[in-house]
Amino acid sequence: MNPKKQSPHPPGSVRFIGSFPDEMPPATLPEVAFAGRSNVGKSSAINGVLGRKSAARVSRSPGRTQAINLFEVDARYMLADLPGYGFAKVPEAVQSRWKGMVEGYLSSRETLRLVVCLVDSRHPPQKLDLALLGGLQGAEIPFLVVATKADKLPRSKRKSMLAKLRKGLGVPELHALSALTGEGMGELRARLLKVVQDR
Ligand code: GDP
Repeated sequence: MNPKKQSPHPPGSVRFIGSFPDEMPPATLPEVAFAGRSNVGKSSAINGVLGRKSAARVSRSPGRTQAINLFEVDARYMLADLPGYGFAKVPEAVQSRWKGMVEGYLSSRETLRLVVCLVDSRHPPQKLDLALLGGLQGAEIPFLVVATKADKLPRSKRKSMLAKLRKGLGVPELHALSALTGEGMGELRARLLKVVQDR
């Protein structure tokens, strides 16, 4: 079935498993992870996918403890909310801690099926986004790049801006998303379901 044709409803049950600054709990169900720069709209995207107003916090402040938040969705898959990166003013130590935590997670999570990489649809490719994508490609970890805040693109330039961004990121596909209008949300849910069901 073409996943684009499906538009599943928000999940019936979402269970918050916990917030993990160090060790992750044992991997059980297939897992998808969400990654992106701070303020890219990651919390809003996760809340949209989960159909919950505040599963993931919106606009958490940069100083907060960095941790991986884990949700169990419909007893079918796990959703991991990775800490945002690229805060302008965080000390070097915090940045290297982020790197250690996320790289450790990405390289060792056996159940990881997909990393949803969020980029802001209005901005040109950012160094840290390219670094993350390069790392995932190098490690052969499947990913999907999602362009957030698509509602903010001027209608007349939308197509060309998305095409340019996709090329700049060097990826085969860019999934436009808006947490505000719900554009692309059903398709994203369908993609996640497909990815955790395959195999
Ligand atoms: P996070 O730091 O990546 O978790 O980003 P948030 O989800 O907290 O969003 C950062 C800011 O962008 C907030 O002010 C949101 O209201 C706004 N935002 C997030 N998603 C969208 C979107 O799809 N459209 C618009 N217009 N604003 C958004």
